[in-house]
Amino acid sequence: MKMIRIVKLFVLIALMSGCSQISRWGKTKSDYPCHVVTASIETDNMDTSGDSADDPAVWIHPDDPSKSLIIGTNKKAGLVVYDLEGKEKQFIPAGRVNNVDIRYGFALGDKKVDIVAASNRSFNSISIFAIDPDSGILSDVSARTIMSALDEVYGFCLYKSPSSGKYYAFVNSKNGAVEQWELKATSNLLIDAEKVRSFQVGLQTEGCVADDELGYFYIGEETFGIWKYFADPNQPLDHKLVADTTEPYLSSDIEGLTIYYAADGKGYLIASVQGLNTYAVYERNWKNKFLGCFSIGDGSEIDGVKETDGIDVINYGLGNKFPNGCFIAQDGYNKDGDKDTTQNFKIVPWESIANSFDKKLLIDNTFDIRK
Ligand code: CA
Ligand code: CA
Ligand code: CA
Ligand code: CA
Ligand code: CA
Repeated sequence: MKMIRIVKLFVLIALMSGCSQISRWGKTKSDYPCHVVTASIETDNMDTSGDSADDPAVWIHPDDPSKSLIIGTNKKAGLVVYDLEGKEKQFIPAGRVNNVDIRYGFALGDKKVDIVAASNRSFNSISIFAIDPDSGILSDVSARTIMSALDEVYGFCLYKSPSSGKYYAFVNSKNGAVEQWELKATSNLLIDAEKVRSFQVGLQTEGCVADDELGYFYIGEETFGIWKYFADPNQPLDHKLVADTTEPYLSSDIEGLTIYYAADGKGYLIASVQGLNTYAVYERNWKNKFLGCFSIGDGSEIDGVKETDGIDVINYGLGNKFPNGCFIAQDGYNKDGDKDTTQNFKIVPWESIANSFDKKLLIDNTFDIRK
């Protein structure tokens, strides 16, 4: 594995020192054919200018999926909560939260709570919130400022182990270092965390995602590629390269990663390829075969998406708006009509993406990751 990595690194350096956008097939990478879809909803704009929006996560309401919420990071200010129309419902001035993730059913006293957690660059920490299912209001349940030993926290994702039922947070830095923390309830009904593992991936990392059924942890090394580890902390650090940026359909930076869950261990790993304004789709199984790519183009009312940082995908039916779930992406350049405005998130019905592929992707709107 180490040897393969060194060889790949040399290939990458050779490519980068020549002309960075030329693939090994000799065509410019932006020529690689990807399916084009359009967004049906966009969120309200960020309140801050410049590069502000970063990473979205969808919370599925336990009883009425049409009341599900989108939680996005404004990396200059805090967390923004939107409804499925994209309307801002709540702003939490939590600080410079960069990446966000969600897990369901964390035991807190005699209650089960859904948690939203984020890497927070204001305090070099992990911030943890609980969602009230009736009001949709987020409240901070961090037992303390859970400070990381990393130089500066950057990427972030959560994991619920299928074998132990324990909840973990992965946080990583621009130096490619990763920490894994176990989340623990305290006697006063708050959530604390204890570091259980640290390891080094490579150069700059950020986007990550864990597969709660298959027990995998994926992380993007931004200029290099996508790596796959075992997510449980007692497992070996053996890892595997899913794909590297010398592939004709990939380029730096690899940004957000997300998983589309379907029944029987089926589904997809999706990666934001920032440099090409595309999203690469892989099988979710061990082999992670590449299936194709897509981009979000200009629609009649909603502009297309460029330079995406974070993404999220939901298979589950979310009521009338998104009966087959949705894909959500940060848009680096939002336009309203001809006017450039501040950043936001774009939402695409999953079936638009699934049906755009020549061999259609699965649409499974019943597999319930909440359970
Ligand atoms: Ca950005
Ligand atoms: Ca995320
Ligand atoms: Ca990045
Ligand atoms: Ca745009
Ligand atoms: Ca717009």
